[in-house]
Amino acid sequence: MDRQPRRRSLTAKQAGLTLAIALLLSITAGTIGLALDARAMRLEIVRDTQYRLDLVHGTAAEAAFQLNTELAPQVVDGLFNSGRVASVAISDDFDRIMATRQRNQTATTSWAASALFDDILHYRQTLLYQAGSGNPPQPVGELELTLALDRLTRDFTDRSLLIFTLGVAKALAIAALLALVFHWFVTRPLLKVHAAIVETNPRQPGRWPKPAMGGHDNDELGHLVESVDQLLQAFQQGLDQRDRLHQISTMDGLTGIANRRHFDAFLEREWQRAHRNGYAISIIFIDIDHFKEFNDHYGHLAGDDTLRAIAEALSRVVHRVSDLVARYGGEEFVCVLPDTDLEGALRVAERVHQEIRALDIPHAHSAREGRVTASLGVASSVPAKNPAGCEELLAQADRQLYRAKRQGRDQVASQT
Ligand code: GH3
Ligand code: MG
Ligand code: MG
Repeated sequence: MDRQPRRRSLTAKQAGLTLAIALLLSITAGTIGLALDARAMRLEIVRDTQYRLDLVHGTAAEAAFQLNTELAPQVVDGLFNSGRVASVAISDDFDRIMATRQRNQTATTSWAASALFDDILHYRQTLLYQAGSGNPPQPVGELELTLALDRLTRDFTDRSLLIFTLGVAKALAIAALLALVFHWFVTRPLLKVHAAIVETNPRQPGRWPKPAMGGHDNDELGHLVESVDQLLQAFQQGLDQRDRLHQISTMDGLTGIANRRHFDAFLEREWQRAHRNGYAISIIFIDIDHFKEFNDHYGHLAGDDTLRAIAEALSRVVHRVSDLVARYGGEEFVCVLPDTDLEGALRVAERVHQEIRALDIPHAHSAREGRVTASLGVASSVPAKNPAGCEELLAQADRQLYRAKRQGRDQVASQT
């Protein structure tokens, strides 16, 4: 079974490639962006936590100094409720917990978040209190705060997702835009050139539907079309030359009908075809009567004119596309009538005979009626039943021609 190669659209390939490159770039840019964002997020967390600790430091120190069991929980609550906090505790000078709050953490932390935030989760601050002016601040207790890794993880994941989503959306938009621009400026004109080449008739490449390239006249696409055009015109010239040579080699220079070489090849081919198809093939040999005398009397130029007139007359009568009229040599002509039996060939020969007479070309030395006449020999054969070959058919027609000559010329003779 033939496997057809799967056709791929150039536009689809180019769009896919653009998308892949855009995605790769956006993932790289996204990763760098993420690293920078993680650093910024760490700084922001540390700064924010430190700021809040500094904000409550005075009050917490006062609570620890006074062993104030109402103030300490207020400070702890304030810190605890202010953000991503896992636990807060205030202890006095003797490490006794005065107030504490803590929440259970969910286990949604990722290794990445742990690696990123582990070292900035814990804060321990010695509470210093200045009792009376002039005295140096004294340590009165400790404020301890631990940030909630699960909350940080969630925030980090949300931010990462946003950055990646935006990156991918940007990549898609850029890829779509690039695909569109490339399709419009490169792929579309290329497809136009391709379609024109596909449409080109290989027998007439010079008449290809050369595409108009709009704004590409002076760029590579315009040059491509020009190069293809020059190539196809060169092909066309080659084909024209080949046809001319073929015509010259198969045409008789004087009369314009087929020459002997063409006749030989044609007869051989048609004989084979008739053999395959089981039909008859016939030949008519025509020889102008007393043509030597005609030339002697009227001159060779007049003789040539007569030959041309007779060739035209033959072509008029023997006009079926499958037939062939050829100049066999000198003043002898031959007609090949494929798929025609003897009876049919005789009818054609009679018409040819009459047509030549009807030309009414004066011939002072003609034996009959003072005009140019011809003798015709007709032979027919069914190649499938006759192994002798086309040479024998030709010889038969020739024999009939000379029988016509012997019998007084200006007549048709055929096999009996
Ligand atoms: P017949 O009736 O027996 O055929 O007599 P004929 O004179 O026609 O026969 P023959 O074969 O003796 O002469 C043929 C003449 O045809 C010889 C030549 O002068 C003439 N001829 C052959 N080719 C050409 C040609 O190309 N141009 C001209 N003008 N005459 C030609
Ligand atoms: Mg002759
Ligand atoms: Mg003759």
